[in-house]
Amino acid sequence: MSVASAKKDKASVFCIANQKGGVGKTTTAINLAAALAALKKKVLLIDLDPQGNATMGSGVDKNAAEINIYQVLIGQNKVSEAKKRSESGGYDVLPANRELSGAEIDLVQMQEREQQLKKALEEASDEYDIILIDCPPTLSLLTLNGLVSAHGVIIPMQCEYFALEGLSDLVNTIKRVYRNINPELQLIGLLRVMFDARVTLQQQVSAQIEEHFGDKVFKTVIPRNVRLAEAPSHGMPGTVYDKNSRGAKAYVEFGKELVKQLKKSAKSAA
Ligand code: ATP
Ligand code: MG
Repeated sequence: MSVASAKKDKASVFCIANQKGGVGKTTTAINLAAALAALKKKVLLIDLDPQGNATMGSGVDKNAAEINIYQVLIGQNKVSEAKKRSESGGYDVLPANRELSGAEIDLVQMQEREQQLKKALEEASDEYDIILIDCPPTLSLLTLNGLVSAHGVIIPMQCEYFALEGLSDLVNTIKRVYRNINPELQLIGLLRVMFDARVTLQQQVSAQIEEHFGDKVFKTVIPRNVRLAEAPSHGMPGTVYDKNSRGAKAYVEFGKELVKQLKKSAKSAA
């Protein structure tokens, strides 16, 4: 599997997307950010969801973030003015809160409304190795801004019967953005999350996913693990909250898998 990587000295930008709600996007974004930070990568996690879960789960108070992604999207402030530090995770966060739900309406009136995040990231991109974008559970203008800014998309999914159904909408959206707006955009891979190996159906669906998507499926599988679910209420990534838990170890492994692929694709591009 090849991973899109940015030009030298610019960050690689990845969207964590799935328009299905509650599939583990935010958990993946937070824990991958922390896993990459532990590998000495300079990471920015962008919260592109008005729920602000990635912000809170990183230990940043979303309600205290007066300058946040909203002001950045409408061009009022720079990323550097809005970013906060996740002390627990060791990465920077571009926070979001309810204010962001108004952004859709403001953006619609702007020219190049789908390019706002990309423009804002131009200045920030030199500062980081990797930028992760936690998308909301919609295929909205916000998600579009994410996809337009990104080199690649990571899709977390549960191994359930209907998991593949919604996937085609997302894959079609990715293809359309690739063809029309962002020729750098690639599907990086599907990440199986909340996996319970004791459930036969999950094993079957997991095998089906591998069959259909081949090398677009990450080798690492994230198990269902209660420590990952507990961590956000402590304002910490699961990888920090309980680093010996199975969930934490899996996300650390996933971080390594992604970095390996980045190196490989950088080599083949050279
Ligand atoms: P939304 O679509 O609302 O943004 P999401 O896709 O970001 O949701 P999460 O918020 O990451 O999904 O996860 C949904 C719920 O599942 C949360 O309560 C989270 O703590 C829990 N969860 C996520 N991954 C795991 C896991 N591997 N094991 C156990 N619980 C998990
Ligand atoms: Mg979320």
